[in-house]
Amino acid sequence: MRPERMLRPPPGAGSTPTPGGGSFVEFSAVCVEYASSGGSIHALEKVDLAFGEGDFVCIVGPSGCGKTTLMQTLAGFIKPTSGSVRLAGVEIEAPGPERGVVFQQPALFPWMTVAENAGFGPTVRGVNPAERARKIEQYLRTVGLWEFRERYPYELSGGMQQRLAIVRALVNDPKVLLMDEPFGALDALTRERMQEELHAVWRRTGMTVVFITHSVEEAVYLGTAVVVMSPRPGRIVERLQVNFSRQTERDIRTIKASPEFVAVKEQVLALIWNMEV
Ligand code: ADP
Ligand code: MG
Repeated sequence: MRPERMLRPPPGAGSTPTPGGGSFVEFSAVCVEYASSGGSIHALEKVDLAFGEGDFVCIVGPSGCGKTTLMQTLAGFIKPTSGSVRLAGVEIEAPGPERGVVFQQPALFPWMTVAENAGFGPTVRGVNPAERARKIEQYLRTVGLWEFRERYPYELSGGMQQRLAIVRALVNDPKVLLMDEPFGALDALTRERMQEELHAVWRRTGMTVVFITHSVEEAVYLGTAVVVMSPRPGRIVERLQVNFSRQTERDIRTIKASPEFVAVKEQVLALIWNMEV
């Protein structure tokens, strides 16, 4: 991963408008109400959020504020009660391979090897075997799992399983990678290594990432934008542009210890701290 640090951000990185105007991803007045036995639960209230291709958008906010719900409307798992979600100008109606999803607990098939798990999406889509094999090898090497390709998920550590789950999303060449607290279950050291790996893949591919996390430090380190949500019903209360993710000349520890990093982190923490939960 280290040599990647010397690379410049890919040409696609940054807020590029979509051809024809508008944003690459656009949530417009998105409301979500869940029906439940005790009446309806108002999860999202008129969320407006737009960002460009190549952005790395981190979403933070108190538990239950609707982060997962928001992501699931973009994934196409749930439809907003009102409002719309668009990708490159097209309204989201259902899940699709151009949107890869990674959950907190890696969703792997225990009966498949690492390589078979990695190739699941391309296999289902009927991608030709040579192309499929090339992609699997490329991404398993990227995350250091190539030597483990014949193993089964139960033989891997938690961090390795999560890397495999990320590979499984990446082999489809998603335009948008959606990650819902993907590193939440990992120990601190593995978590920082995963942050660096994800960073490197993002810089190399220029894909758009939507990343939900409980960790303000993780959000400020990884994001080009940090979006802060309010308690239920979830709304966007603040959006900060940050640029630590574009700094390739300093390593992760130096960046996180720098006064400018700590200042932004404290600014976001204060916003959350001052909310009425
Ligand atoms: P977060 O990811 O920020 O913790 P969620 O999006 O999971 O928040 O949930 C937002 C609110 O909606 C919570 O109060 C949660 O209990 C409720 N909720 C989430 N999913 C459902 C569901 N399928 N049915 C009913 N209520 C739900
Ligand atoms: Mg959640």
